Amino acid sequence: MRSKRPEESFLEYKQRVLDTKSASFCGAKWYNATIWLGSGQTTSCHHPLPHQVSVEQVLANPSALHNTPQKKEQRAQMQRGERPTGCEYCWRIEDSSATAISDRPYKSMIFSEEELSDAFNLPPDRDVNLRTLEIAFDRTCNFACSYCNPAFSTTWVRDIKTNGGYSGLHSDGRNHYTHSHDASQIYGYTDTNPYVEAFFKWWETDLHKTLRELRITGGEPLMSGHTWKLLEWFKENRGKSNTKLAINSNLGMDDKQIDKFIDAVKGLEVEVYTSCEAYGEDAEYIRDGLNYKQWFGNLVKLIKSGAVKQLHVMATINGLSLLSLPKFLEHMMDFKMGWGRDSLTFTLNILRFPSFQSPTVMPFGIREECAVELEKFLTKFEDSKYLHQMEIEHIKRLIEYLRNVKTPHDGASSIDILEKDFKTFYEQYDQRRNKKFIDTFWLLEDWYNGI
Ligand code: SF4
Repeated sequence: MRSKRPEESFLEYKQRVLDTKSASFCGAKWYNATIWLGSGQTTSCHHPLPHQVSVEQVLANPSALHNTPQKKEQRAQMQRGERPTGCEYCWRIEDSSATAISDRPYKSMIFSEEELSDAFNLPPDRDVNLRTLEIAFDRTCNFACSYCNPAFSTTWVRDIKTNGGYSGLHSDGRNHYTHSHDASQIYGYTDTNPYVEAFFKWWETDLHKTLRELRITGGEPLMSGHTWKLLEWFKENRGKSNTKLAINSNLGMDDKQIDKFIDAVKGLEVEVYTSCEAYGEDAEYIRDGLNYKQWFGNLVKLIKSGAVKQLHVMATINGLSLLSLPKFLEHMMDFKMGWGRDSLTFTLNILRFPSFQSPTVMPFGIREECAVELEKFLTKFEDSKYLHQMEIEHIKRLIEYLRNVKTPHDGASSIDILEKDFKTFYEQYDQRRNKKFIDTFWLLEDWYNGI
C-alpha cells in the first residue's frame, strides 16, 4: 500500500509524489488523526496542536470527529500550496535546507498514490474516512509518571487535587504540574459522552471498512470500559474488518488482569505498545506506579501466550533514565534472544518537554558515560541477528544527541533555570510520592545537592 518506491530516496519521493501536487501537500491531513474523546479534541498528526470538535457537528455527522472545519480549511490551504501554521514543525525543517526531510513524506508515504491523488483532488469541503487513527477514550490511568501530567492520568489529577499544584517552577512545562487540566476530561465517567457515542456510530457504519490501523491509547486504555467494548466488537465481528488493532498499555496489571486481556485479544493479532526506559528501581522512580518485575513478567506472559502479534517498547529518554538505560537495553536483548528478534522492538524517543527533565540537564559526565555504554552495547550487538536497523539508528542518534546537543529545544530556558526546576520538581515529587531521590540516584548526590 505504501506509495514510496523501494529504490527511491525520501527526497526523490517527496519531489515525485508530493511536490507535483503542491508545495505543502501532506496525506496525514486527510487520512490520519489522533482523537481525544474525553475532551473532544483532534489533530492530524502529533505535531499540530489539538483543536476542539463541535458537539453539535458530531451529533449530526460522526465523521466530524475528524472532518472539522479547521482541518477542511487546512486541506484547502495545502491544495493551494499554502502552509497551515499548525504544521510549523515541518516547515521549519524544510526551510533549514532544500534537501531537509520533514515528517511530511514519512506521514504521506504510508498511503497509496491513488489515495493521495484522490485526497488532493477532492473538494475540500468533503468528508474523508480515516486510514490510520490513534484514539483515547479517557485519561483514567493507574500510573503518574514524572514526565506525564494530569491531562493524561487520573493518578496525576489526584496528586494535584490532594496536594495542590507544584510550586516554584519557572521553565517551560511548569504548567503541566500546576493544575488538574480538567478541560482534558469534560464528561464524567458515568455521563453520556457524545464524542464516544459518535466514534462508535462512525466505527459501525464506515470506519471499520476503511481504517487500516487503529491504535487505542489513554490514560491506560485497559482501564476504560470502551476499550473492552471495542475488543468485544472485534471478537464478535471476525472477518468483518481488516483494521489492524494496536493498544498502548503500561502493563501495570496483576495476573488476573493480564489473563483477562490475553483472553480478550486471542486471535485478533493485536500489537501491544508499552513504555519503559530505565531498569528496576530507577524505572519505578520515574514511572510512578510501575512494578518493574511485574511489567517484565507481563511482557513474557503476553509473548508466551501467542495472543499478541508483536510487542513494542517505547522509551522516553529523560535525564534520569540515562543512568540505567544501557542495562535496560541489555534486558530487552535478553528478551529478544529468548523469544526472537521480532518478538519485541524498541524505540528511543528523546524527551523535549518539560525541558527540565530533558537528558541535556544531566551533568556532562553522566551523559558521556551513558554514550560510552551505548557504544559498547552496539559493539556487542550490532552484528547480531537480534537488532533491527531502526533500533541501531535510534541508539546512534541518541549517542550523537548526548554528546552534541546542549539545549532541549530552541528557546528553552538557561541550564541554570532548568537545573533549579529539576531539583524543585523532584523535591516535591519525593514528598508526594513517598520516594527518595538520593536513595535511587545516589550517583547524582553531589550534583543534586549542589544545585
Ligand atoms: S505537514 Fe507535518 S505537521 Fe502537518 S500534518 Fe503533515 S506531518 Fe504533520
